[in-house]
Amino acid sequence: MVLIFAESPEGKFKKAALEAVTYGARLAQQMQTQAVALVVGDVADAGMLGEYGVTKVVRIAGDAWDAASLAKAVADVAGQLGADVVVMPFTTTGKAIQGRVAVRLGAGAVSGVNALPDLSDGFVVKRPVFSGKAYAYYKIKSAKKVLSLMSNAIPLEKTGAPVEVENLPITLDPPKVQSVGVEKQKGGIPLPEADIVVSGGRGLKGPENWAILLELADALGAATACSRPVADAGWRPHHEHVGQTGLAIRPNLYIAIGISGAIQHLAGVNNSKTIVVINKDPEAPFFKAADYGVVGDLFEVVPRLTEAVKKFKASN
Ligand SMILES: Cc1cc2nc3c(=O)[nH]c(=O)nc-3n(C[C@H](O)[C@H](O)[C@H](O)COP(=O)(O)OP(=O)(O)OC[C@H]3O[C@@H](n4cnc5c(N)ncnc54)[C@H](O)[C@@H]3O)c2cc1C
Repeated sequence: MVLIFAESPEGKFKKAALEAVTYGARLAQQMQTQAVALVVGDVADAGMLGEYGVTKVVRIAGDAWDAASLAKAVADVAGQLGADVVVMPFTTTGKAIQGRVAVRLGAGAVSGVNALPDLSDGFVVKRPVFSGKAYAYYKIKSAKKVLSLMSNAIPLEKTGAPVEVENLPITLDPPKVQSVGVEKQKGGIPLPEADIVVSGGRGLKGPENWAILLELADALGAATACSRPVADAGWRPHHEHVGQTGLAIRPNLYIAIGISGAIQHLAGVNNSKTIVVINKDPEAPFFKAADYGVVGDLFEVVPRLTEAVKKFKASN
């Protein structure tokens, strides 16, 4: 049986959780077994996870936990239901609990997998390594396995219908660490969740010129990001900084505007599905990583692109 931990901060499923459910359901099909999703706490409409292919949703009650108590609860459920594989999203929570769950189950664990396993000779999973420049393949030899799924690695797939939610009599241990406050980024689309990201570099010359980038992002319904020097200079907030020392993201579309494409920047974005580069220097290294490139002055190209997007959206 495949158990999928469907993370639901504030009672809502993250996209990464729905991807994990889709992945777990497809894995269960491959293994010819059942897929069960686990939700923790109050989640409106948890049964809808059935649409992503699970045959059952189980829930444990509780509104306060830390990584240790959550990992124990997930492992307890896995043990009680006899799960062979536990799948979770490769999010902050997933990263915090995966190792603990694996230790409790005596399971082999691989984090950040990006494809369904190859079951033709054992259980072989694939994950990107060296900042996405190579893939590594791991054979998990233990009977129990714990996987975390890289976000945006597989498309969401609705294959089923809503299912019943069963409450399990498993309780969460009181947390040893209590979160006393969370300061949330206001407005906009959170970068790690975004399908489209419009990102700017030093080529924009200063924060006063960001309006043209914001307008393009707005027209596309995109999140915004930036290179490190831009954040270091205070032109944009630090949480927008992507790269080796910033966030690593994998949107479906990454538009890099006035960014040279240094290796440290690419480390955070080169797993994007499609990369579009706008740069006036045809020798800019980013063009080597680009799917589409525009050699031109961003101050001319970006407003024209925004116009074209708006026109396209208006007529479609
Ligand atoms: C240890 C370490 C870690 C680092 N981590 C990161 C990281 O996480 N993320 C990160 O981004 N960087 C990181 N860096 C910095 C990185 O090496 C580069 O210096 C940085 O990415 C460059 O930022 P940039 O492309 O915005 O600026 P620049 O390199 O100055 O590039 C600006 C680009 O804009 C183009 N341009 C200028 N004017 C126009 C115009 N009018 N129209 C079109 N194009 C124009 C130029 O041709 C140029 O290619 C790190 C560096 C080190 C040493």
